Amino acid sequence: MNKVGFFYHPDYLKHKTGEGHPERPERLSAMLKHLLGTKIWNGLVHLQPQLAQVDQVAMVHPKEYVRMIAERCRAGMTVLDQGDTRICPDSFDVALLAVGAVIEGVDQVVQGKLNSAFCAVRPPGHHAETTAAMGFCLFNNASIAARHAQRTHGIGRIVILDWDVHHGNGTQEVFYEDPLVLYVSLHQYPFYPGTGAADETGTGKGRGFTLNCPMKAGSGEKEYLDSFQEAIIPAIEKFRPELIILSAGFDAHRDDPLAGINLTEESFAAMTALVTNAAREYSEGRIVSVLEGGYDLRALAQSVEAHLIKLAE
Ligand SMILES: [Zn+2]
Repeated sequence: MNKVGFFYHPDYLKHKTGEGHPERPERLSAMLKHLLGTKIWNGLVHLQPQLAQVDQVAMVHPKEYVRMIAERCRAGMTVLDQGDTRICPDSFDVALLAVGAVIEGVDQVVQGKLNSAFCAVRPPGHHAETTAAMGFCLFNNASIAARHAQRTHGIGRIVILDWDVHHGNGTQEVFYEDPLVLYVSLHQYPFYPGTGAADETGTGKGRGFTLNCPMKAGSGEKEYLDSFQEAIIPAIEKFRPELIILSAGFDAHRDDPLAGINLTEESFAAMTALVTNAAREYSEGRIVSVLEGGYDLRALAQSVEAHLIKLAE
């Protein structure tokens, strides 16, 4: 059995987004409550992350941006962008704690203390661009994890595989010109945030190192697994990553209220198995999985359980 780290901190519940907001603390509290009653729970290595340093966040976001987020949270502002990225006074520290989990996840996986890590964090990250919060995201957790792996551990080629139902416009922006990070996304399209067409493939030296797999509303497991077999696994084989980072959103589940893709928890298990196979082949099994979206509490909890079981196999 693989050693899987489960990174969580009770302070993740302190990021309050207001009445009726889908990205709410209950996503994690309900997940934990469910996982506590499962067989997989006691087999996980439970770890509590620390706050990331501003310098670590600054590997992706300019320091002025980080300062602006800190100031707006502390000033009691309740919203950062056009309306959907809500904050409270604690949100800045909670966002640093989310980054802290992915940093330590990378450290422990690269050092071989863990085979893989799952970071059960809030707020999510993949919509956050270098200088813009959006789509419930403040800092781009997965992108910072990749930069940290490169700069601190000398890792070269990294795949960021993003199966959140929304396109990770922020992650794509960070690595669009970078040939050392292959960004792969499966997402409903056309859909929020509007990016992620198949012909967005990178630019300059990064041309060919962004792979978008847009999915029509109503698509399900067959379309997703076909895309893995035909495009994603061959691309990973060609790229030979030294580390795989997963932007693991679970909002492509058929019960999710925000989107129109029909995956099930079994689909997430099947996709996780494909990724663990690829990781074993090319990256010594190293996977750092970071929670993104997933807004139906039951579907999210059960999909994360299925994901953890396959990471541990
Ligand atoms: Zn999403």
